[in-house]
Amino acid sequence: MRYYSTNGGAERVDFKDATILGLAPDKGLFFPEQIPALDERFIGELECYTNEEIGYKVMKPYVGEAIPDEELRRIISETLSFDMPLVQVCDRIASLELFHGPTFAFKDLGARFMSRCMGYFAHESKRKMTVLVATSGDTGGAVAHGFYSVPGVEVVILYPSKKVSMVQEKQLTTLGKNIFALEVDGNFDDCQRLVKEAFADNSLREKIFLTSANSINVARWLPQQLFYFYAYKQWKMRFAKAPVVAVPSGNFGNICSGMVAARSGIPVKKFVVACNVNDAVVSFLKKGEYTAKDTISTLSNAMDVGNPSNFVRLLELYGHSYSKMVDQMVGYTIGDSETRYAIVDTYNRFGYWLDPHGAVAFSALNAYLEKHPDECGFFLETAHPVKFNCGVDLDPPIAHNIAAELASLSSLPSKSTPIRADFNELKSFLCR
Ligand SMILES: *Cc1c(COP(=O)(O)O)cnc(C)c1O
Repeated sequence: MRYYSTNGGAERVDFKDATILGLAPDKGLFFPEQIPALDERFIGELECYTNEEIGYKVMKPYVGEAIPDEELRRIISETLSFDMPLVQVCDRIASLELFHGPTFAFKDLGARFMSRCMGYFAHESKRKMTVLVATSGDTGGAVAHGFYSVPGVEVVILYPSKKVSMVQEKQLTTLGKNIFALEVDGNFDDCQRLVKEAFADNSLREKIFLTSANSINVARWLPQQLFYFYAYKQWKMRFAKAPVVAVPSGNFGNICSGMVAARSGIPVKKFVVACNVNDAVVSFLKKGEYTAKDTISTLSNAMDVGNPSNFVRLLELYGHSYSKMVDQMVGYTIGDSETRYAIVDTYNRFGYWLDPHGAVAFSALNAYLEKHPDECGFFLETAHPVKFNCGVDLDPPIAHNIAAELASLSSLPSKSTPIRADFNELKSFLCR
């Protein structure tokens, strides 16, 4: 498989170079030349395969010859070390729980896959690599855990000061070793901008071997499509109809990977784009015109992205055709009060405890299904509710087990370096 840049001005590269470069030299995002169509029989018999077999079959064409088969199988098996159950919440809505990994968020899967690929490439090239990543909350912890102790790789994480939860902050500032956290006096878009500036700075890149770990990286982005394979594997045993799939979206990596899975053959009736008030893409779907917005802080903080990087991939997936896009997806904006309401109401009615991100998706799916009484679907529950304190007064018993695990986190000493949202400060840290 070769990857081209969405800006069209860079050479095509293989999986290894796309992974190491992160962003294409012309600042576009890498995109696979083809999306392989998997044979119908395989999709029809998904439940006969293990998750590892599915993972290998789906990822192999994207990785090509960049990683030997045996290594790739090992990477996939280490990546998939946790469950992803599809839990029925009510008659027509199921929750795909993606929070059973080490940092309790769906980003664990992509981060684990990517870090192991990078580890393999660093080992092969014998050069020290610096992974630079901006996080709005959950990426940092997942990436930090994924790379922790991987030889030859140093990780520098930028996070917006006071805009991540205590647990999120602990998960990225307590590991130490090859993991460095920078607390940026600004918001997530500032962090993202600093990362982009670093990649655009050739003198910096001559000094250090920089690579990215945001959802723009193909090695993080593409394995996320496995969620939709695993969901469908469970779904098809319960329902004959194709599901409506609601994805809580911020930077739009996850939903775009779902669209890749759909292109490869996973049946999806409709994608529900679920956003909090940071809804540039929802407005685009309504009006046909895209305008980046300033970021607003919300309860679902990992989705507080005013100008999602993966929007260009969304355009690419549909050949820039607005009519094709609105045919396959529908957008909803869910504010904080609706989010809180969904959390309380879903707990009271069904005994199911949503986190604020999952609650945004649940609300959007619910609103869609009310208008489409013959359809049913699932949403992606992207983080464990215990990670967030969102001002609702629930006390589910499971909270206590996990709370104990998290409490031990809060007693670990944090280490981070404060910087202003100024590229020169980042640069001097990187060249220290
Ligand atoms: C990152 C994140 C999202 C948004 O995913 P994108 O791929 O950026 O759209 C949603 N929920 C949680 C919990 C997240 O950490």
